[in-house]
Amino acid sequence: MKEFAYARAGDAQEAAALIAQRPDATYLGGGTNLVDLMKLGVTDPGLLVDVSRLPYDRIEHRDDGSVLIGATVRNGDLAGDPGIRTRFPLLSQSLLSGASGQLRTVATVGGNLLQRTRCVYFQDVTKPCNKREPGTGCPAVQGAHRDLAVLGTSDHCVASHPSDMAVALVALDAVAHLRSVDGATRTVPVAELYLLPGDTPERETVLEHGDLITAVELPAPPPGAAMRYRKVRDRWSYAFALVSVATSVSVADDGSLTDVRIALGGVAPRPWRASVAEERLRGRRPDEETLREAARAELAAARPLPDNAFKVDLTVDLIVAGIRDLIARKDRA
Ligand SMILES: Cc1cc2nc3c(=O)[nH]c(=O)nc-3n(C[C@H](O)[C@H](O)[C@H](O)COP(=O)(O)OP(=O)(O)OC[C@H]3O[C@@H](n4cnc5c(N)ncnc54)[C@H](O)[C@@H]3O)c2cc1C
Ligand code: SF4
Repeated sequence: MKEFAYARAGDAQEAAALIAQRPDATYLGGGTNLVDLMKLGVTDPGLLVDVSRLPYDRIEHRDDGSVLIGATVRNGDLAGDPGIRTRFPLLSQSLLSGASGQLRTVATVGGNLLQRTRCVYFQDVTKPCNKREPGTGCPAVQGAHRDLAVLGTSDHCVASHPSDMAVALVALDAVAHLRSVDGATRTVPVAELYLLPGDTPERETVLEHGDLITAVELPAPPPGAAMRYRKVRDRWSYAFALVSVATSVSVADDGSLTDVRIALGGVAPRPWRASVAEERLRGRRPDEETLREAARAELAAARPLPDNAFKVDLTVDLIVAGIRDLIARKDRA
């Protein structure tokens, strides 16, 4: 591991001033992803600006039903928050499906959103990788791609996005609050935070150097929404998603869907909002065939590789089963 400097920021202004000093400085949250990548030599920042103790550690439930979640709230605290568990259960479920209790105690909301892909070639500096070293090639296409993406990929990169929490946030229409080094603030929907690889897979988000995530905001949940996060993985614990589906539906008395939101994980380079399927289902009373057609329409754009082609049918099945089960549930709010 290369030598690096460390500084703990007391407030956002100090963090910005520190990070602006050098182009090779980076923020440190809980360190559960960044430090691993430094040990592997995938990244070698010269300065770590520790933002994990900035005063963004509160979960604020507002009177209008929205919630402001500070960027330094730990993943375990967010998953266990009573208001999140009851009103946004799919967010809590997504967090509890990821990592381990110990990791969730340390990992932060900001760091979770910006964790890097688990593509094995990205993590192995002895191998080429367009994302790590632009222009070197993408061995995953001919090699190990079973875990990787089928939607939104390019010839230059087929990596999948690893965060479960981000999938839930996209389904919930969450918005990220950002602060740039000059102190200016802006908001970006979490769905628009991430870029597809195209021919620049090294550029993963819309963030500029020094942009700090300060919070994530959830709008009030849709009235009467039933929601769930389902994740298929190779092992019960400590495993990233092969496919995951975050679903929220509100159902009228006649059985039609007044609101439907679906986001997919494990299948794309970013958390994938299933807008095509949603559009086909909104206002409908979906029988099994309607559900299946909508899910298939979403996956029509898939470009699977030989070893991950199974993800297409698996995703269709999960979307169908997820909505069917939520419609059937008796405990809808
Ligand atoms: C064994 C293991 C299993 C795991 N399994 C899962 C899983 O199943 N599902 C899942 O979703 N995750 C899983 N994870 C990943 C884990 O959730 C992430 O490592 C964690 O959420 C990262 O948060 P952190 O605060 O430690 O980020 P860090 O490692 O500190 O930082 C990650 C990135 O975010 C940047 N950053 C941090 N905070 C901010 C901020 N406020 N503003 C701007 N940039 C910031 C850092 O510069 C860095 O680039 C697993 C991790 C391990 C080690
Ligand atoms: S899929 Fe992306 S991250 Fe993986 S080797 Fe190819 S370029 Fe690198």
